Amino acid sequence: MKRYDLHINGQSVKPSTNIWFETQNPFTGETWAHIPRCSAQDVDLAVQAAHLAFTQGAWAEMTASQRGLLMHRLGEVIARRAEQLAQTEVRDNGKLYSEMLGQLNYVPQWYYYYGGLADKVQGATLPLDKKGYFAYTRHEPMGVVAVITPWNSPLLLLAWKIAPALAAGCTVVVKPSEFTSASTLEFASLFEESGFPPGVFNVVTGFGNEVGSALVEHPLVSKVTFTGSDATGRVINQQAGAQLKHTSLELGGKSPNIIFADADLDQAVNGAVSGIFAATGQTCIAGSRLLVQDTVYDEVVARLLALAKTAKMGNPMDAQTQVGPITTPAQYQKVKDYIEVAKGEGALLLLGGKPADDDACGNGWFIEPTIFGEVRNSMRIAQEEVFGPVLSIIRFEDEEDALSIANDIRFGLAAGVWTSDMARAIRMSENLKTGTVWVNTYRAISYMAPFGGYKDSGLGRENGIGAIGEYLQTKSVWINS
Ligand code: NAD
Repeated sequence: MKRYDLHINGQSVKPSTNIWFETQNPFTGETWAHIPRCSAQDVDLAVQAAHLAFTQGAWAEMTASQRGLLMHRLGEVIARRAEQLAQTEVRDNGKLYSEMLGQLNYVPQWYYYYGGLADKVQGATLPLDKKGYFAYTRHEPMGVVAVITPWNSPLLLLAWKIAPALAAGCTVVVKPSEFTSASTLEFASLFEESGFPPGVFNVVTGFGNEVGSALVEHPLVSKVTFTGSDATGRVINQQAGAQLKHTSLELGGKSPNIIFADADLDQAVNGAVSGIFAATGQTCIAGSRLLVQDTVYDEVVARLLALAKTAKMGNPMDAQTQVGPITTPAQYQKVKDYIEVAKGEGALLLLGGKPADDDACGNGWFIEPTIFGEVRNSMRIAQEEVFGPVLSIIRFEDEEDALSIANDIRFGLAAGVWTSDMARAIRMSENLKTGTVWVNTYRAISYMAPFGGYKDSGLGRENGIGAIGEYLQTKSVWINS
């Protein structure tokens, strides 16, 4: 049985509590590793190390170009270790190996991109409205960043945060989810291998209300960047706000995926199926509300059912598997509960709706791909984030109706529009209140494209050139000339 240690100040460290907790493989249900249960004392040690590395020594004295070079090396080391890291993630969160390997092969791009940006952060001279002064701006790193991540894509979502933070010159203390900490702990050793000075990247593990909140509240943390549920995001925002810390929040979603009658229906149905069932629906961008124009409703439903029925469930390491298990027992129960809620509300169960009884699924936490038809947007199944393989189909009449249903929700992370009318696509893209709009595609992500939420889906943006600004302070300097 594997037992992990913490990573603080460039070293493997045992938790001060001397307590480890179990982590399970969602496919077998078996415990496969032990994760350190930290206390506030370990958090303090990690934050002190990060603060020291930020204020003095090799990292603090490094030029931005040198930082960029180290990040480039880190990207290369990740590329070499992609298979090992992907296997760990599969064991810990149950996602498909093919998907995780694809993700891990793409992750180095974040370090190359932001490494390249490190020495392009520039201030400006200011054309003042006052005579006798020379003024300019400079951008300075915020300091120690607390990085709190969820269980669904630990290393990808980590890259979205730490690549711009490191490029800005910050140091970080990461708290991964208690359900999937292993890959982040393994990832930590790559920093020293790439030549990073100790203290730049630290990992503490344990539970949110113990370790996460101790990290958010630590007085030497200047910035908190969080990805997770909106409920936790609110708690963190209050804690960080009480100390006036900078905060970025990437929260949940309930994204509308909208099929107009003039769409290429083959393409749209494929996009609808992968939009909800990829990663077993456990993605913030899941297209969990499928809005279908009523003139093609029956045809779309028929095609959707035909395609979704063929989805092969089973061992996530198997290349043939298309839908893996749910990551945690609590999430498994939550998805089952939502299926009952939907039935109780009068939604029409068209597919699935129960745990898988397929032999290929062994003792894993599997739920069949589930589709509800005739859903009304006011139902809980249409308004609340299930975070599982459950699709709600809602009818609409025309563009105005589609827009009104799509925006009638407290979330605003992403939306899909399927149409052959580009003028309509542009109108919809302008009027949808979401941070991302995909037209005739779904789930496309890049380090170059800003990502984040409107409304309850979050604060701030990750990815793209602007994301580095989330980790920088701007200073104006006035010189009496
Ligand atoms: P969660 O909110 O339960 O936990 C996320 C992290 O916060 C974990 O590391 C947890 O230990 C920590 N945490 C919990 N309570 C805390 C506290 N009081 N103080 C500090 N830290 C605390 O979320 P989850 O279940 O791990 O992830 C699923 C959620 O994440 C979904 O809502 C999903 O939509 C969202 N998500 C959003 C994005 C995005 O980019 N917008 C991406 C992936 C997932």
